[in-house]
Amino acid sequence: MTISSLPTTGSPSVRRLPSRLADLGHLLLVRSVCVAAICIFEVADALLSAGGAVRRICFPLPAAGALRPAVLIVGGSFSGLHAQRELCGSCDVTLIDEKAFFEYTPGCLRLFVKPTYLTKIARPLPRARNGLVIGSLQSIEKSTVTVRAPGGEARVLHFDYLLLGCGTTYGCTPITPTAAAPTLEQRAAVWESAAAELRAAQSVLILGGGPVGVELAAEIVAAFPAKRVSLITAGPALCATLPPHVGAVSARWLRARGATVLLNSRATRVDERTVLLEDGSRLQADLVYSCLGGGVPNSAAVRSSLPASVDARGRVVVDKHLRVRGAGGRVLAMGDVMVLAGCSDLKLGHTAELNAQVAAANVLRTHAALAAARPEPRLEAYPFGAVGAAVAPRVFCVSLGEANGALAFNGVVISGVLAAVAKRIIEWTKVAACEERPVGILFWRFGDAAANWLSRAVLPPPEVRAAAAAKRVA
Ligand SMILES: Cc1cc2nc3c(=O)[nH]c(=O)nc-3n(C[C@H](O)[C@H](O)[C@H](O)COP(=O)(O)OP(=O)(O)OC[C@H]3O[C@@H](n4cnc5c(N)ncnc54)[C@H](O)[C@@H]3O)c2cc1C
Repeated sequence: MTISSLPTTGSPSVRRLPSRLADLGHLLLVRSVCVAAICIFEVADALLSAGGAVRRICFPLPAAGALRPAVLIVGGSFSGLHAQRELCGSCDVTLIDEKAFFEYTPGCLRLFVKPTYLTKIARPLPRARNGLVIGSLQSIEKSTVTVRAPGGEARVLHFDYLLLGCGTTYGCTPITPTAAAPTLEQRAAVWESAAAELRAAQSVLILGGGPVGVELAAEIVAAFPAKRVSLITAGPALCATLPPHVGAVSARWLRARGATVLLNSRATRVDERTVLLEDGSRLQADLVYSCLGGGVPNSAAVRSSLPASVDARGRVVVDKHLRVRGAGGRVLAMGDVMVLAGCSDLKLGHTAELNAQVAAANVLRTHAALAAARPEPRLEAYPFGAVGAAVAPRVFCVSLGEANGALAFNGVVISGVLAAVAKRIIEWTKVAACEERPVGILFWRFGDAAANWLSRAVLPPPEVRAAAAAKRVA
């Protein structure tokens, strides 16, 4: 069977017309609301920055003391940058990354259709309050690491504490930035060529019905209504790790715009243009994207230096205080690269930041105990130390093009333009926080506190609600 003979639910352009007209209206609404919100944020940021400058002139900070510990953070993304913000005030922080910029991964799927959007979601890594070393972590010794710069020369850096936030590599290129394109200009060229490849294709096949596959399919459908787009997933629903309503909304949205959504269809072989399914059918398209998830942890340096700290899947194993197993308490790991036994978190940008909050707190607590010659520091445990509860809130927003989406919070789903507006505001403020703009940092101080309170007091995660109900029955 070729892709042209796949069952299409809404392919005739006449059937797509109402959806397209509604999309245009929604797009206008989403863009207007977002532009207004961003203008307000810009003004707030200018005021906060001016206030900060006045405060620094009137009340200069005391000179850095000799007792500030040296903290190396590997990975300038969600977890690494959150830890950097938490620690810069009291430690000498050096950020290490293979590239000189931060790219907001949850927004990167739009770059396949609109590569210029990179200017909205990528920023140079911060360096105002921290050191910055561009290079790849090669090895970890007792109190040093070796980093190899893009040119090839090795550099040895000392640490009192080492935080690993080096994430995973996603299988579908060029979603994960690589050391081969360490500057923003090079990265822009990479996205430009990925977008050109897509522009040239008439038909596209996307494997994997998780949030990544769904969002990529939606971006393509929204930007190129004439392309034949098929999304194939092994399970009975899309976005199976999220509340069922998210998958249902996504499937409906895609089908209404002419995309083919094939459920219960497992691929057994994939190459550049062909996918072989378990039932023997062979699908063809000009382009195949594999969005099957299961990113490979970037843990090669940990594996070679501390083999006992890595599990069979390459994940860095941590204890409940996020200390790396067998590394002596001064090496911690956070985000996608690590695994914590018994933790049911989805691996997300939000949970990576929650990890970083606990890891940073434990660096400070360990250091305070050492300075006071206390034998045992009182460490924070994850996730309690970050959210004040045994389970972190489950927050996720799946975008369906620029003007639609589904926002899930602990099992409750809001879909439509509101979710699209939320996604854009989350994106803008996260990027602002990562470049240390006061408005972004402040927004998320309140946002995280509000989400944690909501999750503890009003709308707990589904498993907490189920456990409470079971207890009541017993
Ligand atoms: C397409 C896609 C969409 C997503 N959408 C969402 C979403 O909507 N919401 C959400 O919450 N999450 C989303 N996620 C998940 C989220 O992006 C990750 O959970 C998050 O990025 C993990 O952050 P991290 O800090 O652990 O590592 P990463 O973001 O993976 O960053 C790791 C950093 O380490 C650097 N690095 C790696 N190896 C080395 C080395 N050897 N030396 C030096 N530096 C190194 C890398 O350059 C990178 O900067 C999405 C993921 C993907 C792939």
